[in-house]
Amino acid sequence: MMKLFDFHADTGYAVMKRRKEGMQDIITKDQLQKRLHGGFSWVCMASYFEGSETWEQMQEMIIALHEEIALCKDALLVKQKADLMADVPLHAICTVEGMCGIKEDVTERIDWLYDHDIKIASLAWNDENALATGVKGNPNRGLSELGIQAVKRMHSHRMIVDVSHANEKTFWDILAHCEGGVMATHSNARALSDHPRNLKDEQLIALAKQGGMVGVVCCGAFVHSDPLKKDIAHMVEHMRYLKDLIGIEHIALGLDFMDDYDGAMGTMLTDLNEPSKAQRIIAEMRNQGFDETQIRMIAYENALRYLGSYLS
Ligand SMILES: [Zn+2]
Repeated sequence: MMKLFDFHADTGYAVMKRRKEGMQDIITKDQLQKRLHGGFSWVCMASYFEGSETWEQMQEMIIALHEEIALCKDALLVKQKADLMADVPLHAICTVEGMCGIKEDVTERIDWLYDHDIKIASLAWNDENALATGVKGNPNRGLSELGIQAVKRMHSHRMIVDVSHANEKTFWDILAHCEGGVMATHSNARALSDHPRNLKDEQLIALAKQGGMVGVVCCGAFVHSDPLKKDIAHMVEHMRYLKDLIGIEHIALGLDFMDDYDGAMGTMLTDLNEPSKAQRIIAEMRNQGFDETQIRMIAYENALRYLGSYLS
């Protein structure tokens, strides 16, 4: 079985939902088996905020996720570079998707995220907030002054800035204020599927140029607009396209399985709706001509090299 690194899963959201139902030890009970069965050894666990959450709610989810990772004896919270290679079945990397709760005290709050081992974070989800503008916000609005402060503070901590949900203006504003340390955790190529969550060629080239990484995502809408082509074969086509455009060393997986969202399964690929089936991606990569070295790079080596270079 090929080992896998996933740059995006909404585990923080899943944990909060189950906790509200009275459940505990949720990663062990809900997540672990399907992840290990799929071959995942590293999962970026996002605390996801859609735009209405307060700073206190952000803290609550991040702390809950930490507690749940600590409860799971087969998972380790990644704090430093050496933890990526620790002898444990599942390495949990904490990330943040959207910072709508940060409207003031930007420096202190970014420091709090850093102190809570957040290694990768996006400023906005699809919304428009005090820091930045997501894909559903005003197209003429990008990073705010506060957002520039946030990006600079993240940069000083070597936290990776995630541009997956950023609108185009925010994307370019972020790149203008960062020397490296910018990636798209879960986006595909816009040339193959014209969705605002996917990246245009010039965006992909700019990300790669500053050393960044693109996590290929398995949400149906980002893979293909044709319902009959929302499948693994067409997802692997995005990998082939990216390989030719920006080089294989910039490609990783950022799958964004929505198996924890009630009713969201229909938005996934027809032949890939949950993590336990992820080895099907590897089989299809072989089928489409990727060799074993290239498969290992996309499956986990690129991600480990990239993330490792930002950890101490
Ligand atoms: Zn997302």
